[in-house]
Amino acid sequence: MSARIISGKEISQQIREELRKEVQELKEKHGVTPGLVTILVGENPASISYVTAKQRTAKDLGFYSVQENLPEEVSESELLALIDKYNKDEKIHGILVQLPLPKHINERRIIYAIDPRKDVDGFHPVNVGKMVIGEPCFLPCTPHGILVMLERAQVQVDGADVVVVGRSNIVGKPVANLLLQKRKPVGNATVTVCHTGTRDMAAHTRRADILIVAAGRPKVITADMVKEGAVVIDVGVNRIGTTPEGKAILCGDVDFDAVKEKASAITPVPGGVGPMTITMLMKNTVEAAKLWAGLPCEVG
Ligand code: NAP
Repeated sequence: MSARIISGKEISQQIREELRKEVQELKEKHGVTPGLVTILVGENPASISYVTAKQRTAKDLGFYSVQENLPEEVSESELLALIDKYNKDEKIHGILVQLPLPKHINERRIIYAIDPRKDVDGFHPVNVGKMVIGEPCFLPCTPHGILVMLERAQVQVDGADVVVVGRSNIVGKPVANLLLQKRKPVGNATVTVCHTGTRDMAAHTRRADILIVAAGRPKVITADMVKEGAVVIDVGVNRIGTTPEGKAILCGDVDFDAVKEKASAITPVPGGVGPMTITMLMKNTVEAAKLWAGLPCEVG
């Protein structure tokens, strides 16, 4: 039987409607407008499209939003000065620097410079540390989006065998960490993480009740690597060509057509994890605005 499709697009739309109402209330009751600045360096087409989507969503939800476009040659000290400016700007609650940055800029130095209370991407070591020990903090957007998808799709995570393919700092490691925590409503799983050093990856993936794939390799997960009835979350976004109109053709890390015949539920690409990532950035910015206004919030 064909798997249930977990639509990140639909879940995102629900959350965005909830956020829209919350933003309205924050404005009316507290005079607070969530403020987000997105900083883009250079002209990488993928980065431009991500930043454009983030700005469009922020505006649509009623945020105060600012877009900073810097030339490829901008110096590290100029970028640091801009971050300092927004760290001090009371109208801005969230600062997002679109990664990757050009090679002459030290990414780590830039991330460390963002005030952790405005780190809506959840990449600052203060937030990473808090996440690992289970304290309230800004969660990184893609792992957070995966957790919310699992929750809203009512997937049984407690006690499940979860296998994560990939150990990057932005997806694999944090999602593995969050799912192993004694955390409600989504957590308390037994987690295995696979990577290029894993000896027999299929032996692990075939045991998974929930398989989360973030390898950045088109269709690396084939149907024979998936257990009958598993829930499959495909994080991969691979550009495998362009349409005659010049639009990117995307595919995930999972062989969707074959795996959907074996899984009980699966996320598509596009329309799966991608929209959730942007939505969780918006959620983090609303939480940041509440934090700065001294209102009850989910971050600390
Ligand atoms: P990354 O930094 O390149 O990390 C990839 C990870 O996968 C590494 O840990 C690597 O292992 C592992 N890996 C690669 N090939 C493998 C293989 N054949 N078998 C086992 N493990 C393998 O990538 P990322 O930033 O985590 O992103 C992963 C994918 O998700 C990309 O396609 C990216 O575009 C996508 N993504 C999507 C979103 C979204 O919003 N939808 C957000 C972020 C990322 P080693 O550590 O051993 O090298």
